[in-house]
Amino acid sequence: MIDVHIHAVPPNLPGVGPLVPLLRCSGEVVAAELRREMQTAGVTQVFAMGAWNAGEDDPLGINRTLEIAPFVPGLRPIGIMDPVRTDAEHFRRVEQLLARGRVVALKGYLGYLHYEPAHANYRRYYELAARYRVPVMFHTGDTYSPQAKLKFAHPLGVDEVAVDHPNCQFVLCHLGNPWMIDAAEVIYKNLNVWADLSGLLVGDDGYFVSDEGRETIHELVQAVQQAIRYSERPNRFLYGTDWPLVPMAAYREFIRQAVPAAHHEQVFAENARLLFRLF
Ligand SMILES: [Zn+2]
Repeated sequence: MIDVHIHAVPPNLPGVGPLVPLLRCSGEVVAAELRREMQTAGVTQVFAMGAWNAGEDDPLGINRTLEIAPFVPGLRPIGIMDPVRTDAEHFRRVEQLLARGRVVALKGYLGYLHYEPAHANYRRYYELAARYRVPVMFHTGDTYSPQAKLKFAHPLGVDEVAVDHPNCQFVLCHLGNPWMIDAAEVIYKNLNVWADLSGLLVGDDGYFVSDEGRETIHELVQAVQQAIRYSERPNRFLYGTDWPLVPMAAYREFIRQAVPAAHHEQVFAENARLLFRLF
């Protein structure tokens, strides 16, 4: 089982805290907790989001994740695109990391950063992603920050760049929640658009079995099923959790309900293997 969307370090975004107190802890503590969660849920590979604006020596914000990685078999970093940066030296460093295979994907924080996907400052990243054959993942949908602007985080913005960059693969994180049907339309229409199912709800084990949690899960199961059906592309959906915002095992059970059994193999592993070229 492959989880394509977790956090092992705070994302360092405007108006967003560490997500959960655990991410403030030392790398050793995070690694131990992550290993235990993976084991409990039967997850063998996890891809972790880096931090935005991590400094000159860390152009994709992955250094802290790389420090934790040796202690968590299967952990690999996702580099964060910074649309504020436009200088050649920055992109030279980014390209070096991509050429060395240091990251499995690039990630853009739509909404949190006030840049639309079609903004010129993202273009160079798409070209590099296509050249080094890594997907570009975008936060889409509701944001965790009052400073974010939702219009930048709508999945429709990704349609434009999917058309203009046909050699680049794009992932709509969180299936654009709550705009799931809009996300499904973008997937239906574009062969190079995928979605991850992470972070559709947030809470601990207690929340998942509470009345409110169960009602929310019931509604989300319907919505995800509808989106998969509408898109006509179950081969474009990826399992992800957004851990540590949710417990891995409880979230896995939720996604098992939301994805038709015939597509479990694809969504929990196969689709990710193809997109991230894990063969
Ligand atoms: Zn996330």
